[in-house]
Amino acid sequence: MEINFECKGCQKEFDCDIGTIGINNQTMRPNFGKPIICPRCGERTIDDVLLTELGQSQMTEATMYL
Ligand SMILES: [Zn+2]
Repeated sequence: MEINFECKGCQKEFDCDIGTIGINNQTMRPNFGKPIICPRCGERTIDDVLLTELGQSQMTEATMYL
């Protein structure tokens, strides 16, 4: 599953294959099967990135059938 993110570090958008998406039942935040890797900054946490508009619709689509 590819999701479009914006990195808070370098302010650039990038597509990242985050593997499978799940939802953490405790925090209700998404869990990714693979780390988020910014092509410029390396590994990022979910707090280091923003979801672009495209990323949001990709996430909605991916979590719709969970
Ligand atoms: Zn970056």
